[in-house]
Amino acid sequence: MTEFVFNDIPVREENLIKGNTGKWEIMIGLEVHAQVNSNSKLFSGAPIAFGAEPNSQVSLVDAAMPGMLPVLNQYCVEQAIRTGLGLKAKINKRSIFDRKNYFYADLPQGYQISQFKDPIVGTGTIILDMKDGSTRSVGVERIHLEQDAGKSMHDQSPDSTFIDLNRSGVALMEIVSQPDMRSAEEAGEYMKKLRSILRYLGTCDGDMEKGNLRCDANISVRKVGGEPGTRNEIKNLNSIRNIVHAINHEARRQIEEIEAGGVIEQATRLFDVNSGETRVMRTKEDAHDYRYFPDPDLYPLEFDDALIEKIRSTLPELPDEKKQRYMDGAGLSAYDAGVLVADQASADFFDELVKNSDPKLAVTWLTAELFGRLNKIDKNISESPVTAIQLSGLIKLISDNTISGKIAKTVLDEMVETGKDADVIVEEKGLKQVTDTGAIESIIDAVIANNPNQVEQYKSGKEALFGFFVGQVMKESRGKANPKIVNEILKKKL
Ligand code: MN
Repeated sequence: MTEFVFNDIPVREENLIKGNTGKWEIMIGLEVHAQVNSNSKLFSGAPIAFGAEPNSQVSLVDAAMPGMLPVLNQYCVEQAIRTGLGLKAKINKRSIFDRKNYFYADLPQGYQISQFKDPIVGTGTIILDMKDGSTRSVGVERIHLEQDAGKSMHDQSPDSTFIDLNRSGVALMEIVSQPDMRSAEEAGEYMKKLRSILRYLGTCDGDMEKGNLRCDANISVRKVGGEPGTRNEIKNLNSIRNIVHAINHEARRQIEEIEAGGVIEQATRLFDVNSGETRVMRTKEDAHDYRYFPDPDLYPLEFDDALIEKIRSTLPELPDEKKQRYMDGAGLSAYDAGVLVADQASADFFDELVKNSDPKLAVTWLTAELFGRLNKIDKNISESPVTAIQLSGLIKLISDNTISGKIAKTVLDEMVETGKDADVIVEEKGLKQVTDTGAIESIIDAVIANNPNQVEQYKSGKEALFGFFVGQVMKESRGKANPKIVNEILKKKL
């Protein structure tokens, strides 16, 4: 739908696709539909609970009965402004609702109320956090408010189709990116980051499974440095995995087509999850096909700076700022900070944790240890049986040498299983680290006495055996000897 205007994006070798005739670049722009987190629809007071009986949440406005007039939902407008502010975008104090005309059985009005030339939000930016710790900047072209359509149900009867209008009139924010992405991976990261920001803002729940966040991908290819090819649009991708698969498949299809001497026709395509392929839904569709015109039932949407500033003052700390704070303030790597801020609940847990713990120990014990264990029992951080205060209790025992890092791992296993505090488990199981040098010395003496051959070899220069002795002492102490003290005394005795 959107005009494709290409920004100057540096070519990255790792993004290029090798064809038979040379290297190709993929150019991707995403149009994301995000359902506004509100209790009622954009132009009616009907509720929008998920999973309700078909046609139980439909007002006369949503059913497009003759003479019904839309009444704009102020809350939805504020959520769009809030989203614009979160994407560092220009907020347009005057915008226009237009009718986008088309016929479809699930669209009783015969048009969708949307925004065309004058959207509520203008250009903004989304920063992608790539897996290697680097970042990319992707332009946001616009955000406009529009209504969702109803749903045709083809699977209820063998010979009829039913219409459910529950979704008819639900408020959507259409967030349109500039075609700044050059790989499917970047597109996937864009969706992750956008979803994370929307969740921080609370303007959309980001639930892709329920269709509350879905994505259309515009894809074209070109030879490196060449002219952009014709784009194809893939509709309604509802998971990040599908976005990545569909883009890769579509790019290869276009490259093969062109290299075989064919021509890419502009088309709207559907991604078939089962075959992993895209197929044509309709060809050639442009903005003028919809005969957009301003909706005569609605005034232009106007508001002042005071409303914008009121909303700005309620914004939370967003992922990018949080990440910077973790890097500058807590000394975390870009990667670690990125992992933590991606999910607000993880960031909240970390913020609680570092009140009492060293940030670097905290990040390791949270991301490498606790996350791994939660993953195994299929729980997320909000459902963690171990609280932030309990985890900082465990970290304290490591910091003050009460237990070794190795023992701490088994203690954490038990914490996840039982929800008990670390010091209780350490006490119950007698896991306290032995720092009594006398006790360690006698273990070391025994190990040396029992392994005369190894002692002989070590003394004649086979220094690698040192690790063997450490291992034996740790084994004898059932892992409880303080490794630092073991090392010191062993060095002396050998
Ligand atoms: Mn749309």
